[in-house]
Amino acid sequence: MRALTFLAGRFVAGDTIDDAISAVRALNRDGIKATLDNLGEDSRTNAQACAAAEENLAMLRRIAEAGVDCTISLKLTQLGLAVDPALARENLTRIAEEARRLKNFVRVDMEGSAWTQKTLDLAYSLHGRFPDLGVVLQACLRRTEADCRDAVAKGMRVRLCKGAYKEPVDAAYASKAEVNENYDRCAAVLAAAPVPAFATHDDERIAAAARSCAAAGLGKNDYELQMLYGLRAERWRQLRAAGHVVRVYVPYGTHWLPYFLRRLRERKENVAFLARNFFR
Ligand SMILES: Cc1cc2nc3c(=O)[nH]c(=O)nc-3n(C[C@H](O)[C@H](O)[C@H](O)COP(=O)(O)OP(=O)(O)OC[C@H]3O[C@@H](n4cnc5c(N)ncnc54)[C@H](O)[C@@H]3O)c2cc1C
Repeated sequence: MRALTFLAGRFVAGDTIDDAISAVRALNRDGIKATLDNLGEDSRTNAQACAAAEENLAMLRRIAEAGVDCTISLKLTQLGLAVDPALARENLTRIAEEARRLKNFVRVDMEGSAWTQKTLDLAYSLHGRFPDLGVVLQACLRRTEADCRDAVAKGMRVRLCKGAYKEPVDAAYASKAEVNENYDRCAAVLAAAPVPAFATHDDERIAAAARSCAAAGLGKNDYELQMLYGLRAERWRQLRAAGHVVRVYVPYGTHWLPYFLRRLRERKENVAFLARNFFR
């Protein structure tokens, strides 16, 4: 387990908020923005959900004290959506209020498709009070192009990603090619949304999204390109040097296993990295 913890360090900034803030400072020095994520999902009790909410409040305060260029990202099952939806709503409201007070932004990550509608319903129900609350949509899902149109109509800020969860066949596209095509279609729709964020390490998707934004009259400061901590660091800097706004998703905390396994599953090079270092 100690070896795995060491290897997860490639994708995770450390155990504590202070570890994560150090990583954010280093990114900011290169002109790269960040979003902090306290790893964890599926709180099983109200106490766990409330502890996660407190951690997110602490993150917002620590970001403000440190003066770093950084938002936060969180998961609603971590805030209690699976055990007590009313508590999850209360937790998200407290966090959104604190973010507003501190002039920050909260991104609600998207989990597996069983949570899509519940996540969007909760986020939209608070969006009128908290415009600085955004969501994530996943190009792997068949419903997502329609969700993008809805987000544009409602003025919701969206991060578009491919989707990291294993999905039922009726909900999701089966092939990578279909997911990629849908990503490009959704990116074109989202060019009309406020500050669209394109989260991918895929150069073709980045290029297509940038073309759609340019065609919609957006400048490079009007949208964000986002990548994950530990993946393609040299590319972040190239994109930044080319004038793009780049934001890196910085996860931290001790509950890193599900996140780590998702990273291994989506790319065989990441497994090769694990195997190489494990045997070393
Ligand atoms: C900022 C951010 C936030 C996210 N938030 C969520 C979320 O809320 N919910 C969710 O379900 N998922 C989320 N994800 C994960 C996402 O859905 C994908 O699982 C993950 O990003 C992998 O897909 P990809 O778009 O990078 O492309 P992939 O299909 O994994 O890769 C496509 C191509 O990109 C290039 N590439 C990828 N990785 C590398 C690398 N390490 N080095 C060199 N080239 C590489 C290669 O050319 C590869 O063929 C997020 C991702 C990011 C970046």
